Amino acid sequence: LRLADEAMYRAKRAERDGTDPDMEPLAADLSDAVRNGQLRVHYQPIATLPDGRIVGVEALVRWEHPQRGTVPPLSFIPLAEETGAIREIGAWVLSQACRQVAAWRADGHDLHLAVNVSPRQLEPGLAERVFAELSAAGLAYRDLIVEVTESVRVEDPVAVDQLRRLHERGVRIALDDFGTGYSTLRYLTALPVDILKIDRSFVAKLDGTPEGAAVAETVLRLSQMMHLETVAEGVESPGQAAELAGLGCVNAQGFHFARPMPADEVSGLLSEQDPA
Ligand code: C2E
Ligand code: CA
Ligand code: CA
Ligand code: CA
Repeated sequence: LRLADEAMYRAKRAERDGTDPDMEPLAADLSDAVRNGQLRVHYQPIATLPDGRIVGVEALVRWEHPQRGTVPPLSFIPLAEETGAIREIGAWVLSQACRQVAAWRADGHDLHLAVNVSPRQLEPGLAERVFAELSAAGLAYRDLIVEVTESVRVEDPVAVDQLRRLHERGVRIALDDFGTGYSTLRYLTALPVDILKIDRSFVAKLDGTPEGAAVAETVLRLSQMMHLETVAEGVESPGQAAELAGLGCVNAQGFHFARPMPADEVSGLLSEQDPA
């Protein structure tokens, strides 16, 4: 009966997510992934507009599954959030990424680090663990950006308190996928937000017309009025980069600049940018 339940549950979730049930990683595998050294961190450069200078990186986790090959995060992060394994995965990603960015900074590259944090991780003690990790790696509070989505519940006092503690020390809080949720504006007053990441669906609409630019332009105006920074996500073409620059957007991320890549490939880009 248990197995039948699990199979039905997986099939239902696969239907909801549009994934193949046979490809769904099992929770049991996932809880071993950290311990067995199957996770990798890739880094996607964040660049300034219009020149494309790399000023930061976003850490994005990958799972090298022994049978399934590389499993993308959207196929296992939701499962990890359900099982709670996201706490261990998130802590591991933060630790790896802090050490890597500290090494790049020691080599003379002035970079910040952005990490994704799930609502499940925003529990008592998180901020203290983040501070300890930064200090162990030799990074300053302001070198770190914590990215959260609107899946954080603004009426969850523990989550809001942890974000406040981070923000008070100077860790910046970014609202990821901004504009795609239901109560976007409420988040801006309820959470201590420093940065808005313009969701890539709005960047994809940029086509040189005022209608195409409407949402991106509105988010940029809003962030200027609220003294927030902005990062445009999913910039794939020179035309989009130029249009965003024209709208006053300073930071951008996307395949036009660089894909997420292993650390050594980022090192290559950085040494071209800042020759020793
Ligand atoms: P996200 O935080 O919105 O990350 C950006 C995603 O957009 C990445 O997908 C990246 O590869 C993709 N992307 C970047 N530039 C472009 C572009 O120009 N065009 C298009 N079409 N896509 C672009 P990825 O790496 O598959 O990650 C998917 C999501 O998984 C992330 O979305 C984030 O929500 C989650 N995730 C990844 N790593 C972690 C992690 O360590 N912890 C948590 N909690 N979530 C993570
Ligand atoms: Ca993100
Ligand atoms: Ca995003
Ligand atoms: Ca997303």
